[in-house]
Amino acid sequence: MLETPPLMLPEFSVLQARLALCSREEAEAALARPQRTLSDLAALLSPAADHLLGEMAAASARITRQRFGRVIQLYAPLYLSSYCSNRCLYCGFSADNEIPRRALSLAEAEAEAAILEQRGFAHLLLVSGEAPAKMDVDFLAALAARLRGRFASVSIEVQPLATAEYARLFAAGITGVAVYQETYDREIYATLHPAGLKRDFARRLDTPARAATAGMREVGIGALLGLSDWRAEGLALGLHLAWLRKNFWRTGLTVSFPRLRPAPGQFKPLQPVGEAELSRLLFALRLFDPDVGLVLSTREEERYRNGMVGLGPTRYSAGSCTVPGGYGGYDEAGGAAGEQFAVGDLRSLDEVAAMIRQRGFDPVRKDWDPVFQEIATTDKELKEDFAHG
Ligand code: SF4
Repeated sequence: MLETPPLMLPEFSVLQARLALCSREEAEAALARPQRTLSDLAALLSPAADHLLGEMAAASARITRQRFGRVIQLYAPLYLSSYCSNRCLYCGFSADNEIPRRALSLAEAEAEAAILEQRGFAHLLLVSGEAPAKMDVDFLAALAARLRGRFASVSIEVQPLATAEYARLFAAGITGVAVYQETYDREIYATLHPAGLKRDFARRLDTPARAATAGMREVGIGALLGLSDWRAEGLALGLHLAWLRKNFWRTGLTVSFPRLRPAPGQFKPLQPVGEAELSRLLFALRLFDPDVGLVLSTREEERYRNGMVGLGPTRYSAGSCTVPGGYGGYDEAGGAAGEQFAVGDLRSLDEVAAMIRQRGFDPVRKDWDPVFQEIATTDKELKEDFAHG
């Protein structure tokens, strides 16, 4: 078997210098092209494209409709454990924070999943802090076996694992892995991750490739916005995405852009990112990679999430709770465990689904293929879009 060549990610300062070189003409030409290169992505993220936000939004909306129809997938995170051996300065679960912590038992995790199943969720994301002694591969495999056949997909966002461990989880029924680099700025990364396994930037960077090598159907990457220069983070995400596409063309890819939220530890964003900037990132990534799934989580507030429907994101979380056991009311019952971060959109699944429907889109809790086919064959405008492609 041929070995995958390593991802050669330029230094962050090199990405910033490249962005600074882009001209207004390059930005406008990048927007006008039918397909876009990494240079085009740089131009669209650069200050030279600041005047193009409206046009980028329109182009992103058009491409998203062509590729995904009117479908928006809904999912829920299920927090398994708030224990973590890392010390990420920005996170409520950091080992340095004195919060009540909890790791669910298999029965408790299954009960939480049953609540989400009953609420109508078909896509589940199992989340935990990175403490293998509290939440290991054996546990995840056993939970996957219990959930098998009950959800359209079960994904994980847990500590980085070895390829063989991902392969074992895939065999057990887990089909997706999300692992965010947090920041592609190596210097800031070293400052914000002073201890723990996560300190190893290169190991984390290689994790999506290990998950894809193991056969995972979907791999999600992302940057936590507020830690460094958002434009260079966007360009690094584009490089990472393009490298994964080239080497793992069978794997579905998604990108998330979580913005820092208030959390225990009271970390303040080092470089705050506004809504217009977050939108720019989303639109630029959509224009660069028309097929990538774009995730907008409940970190963002109701008003912003409403306004973004149809403009680029293809996946929304809903009704989220970031406390292990929270769906069953564990914290309300007085045994409060600390949350990872404060949720921005507190609406239920039904409320988010109704909002999406009001905007003329289809919130999909189950599988999207049948719905997509139905839309693609009945929606006249969409058919015309395809025809003019
Ligand atoms: S970001 Fe992840 S690894 Fe870091 S402290 Fe939080 S849960 Fe642990």
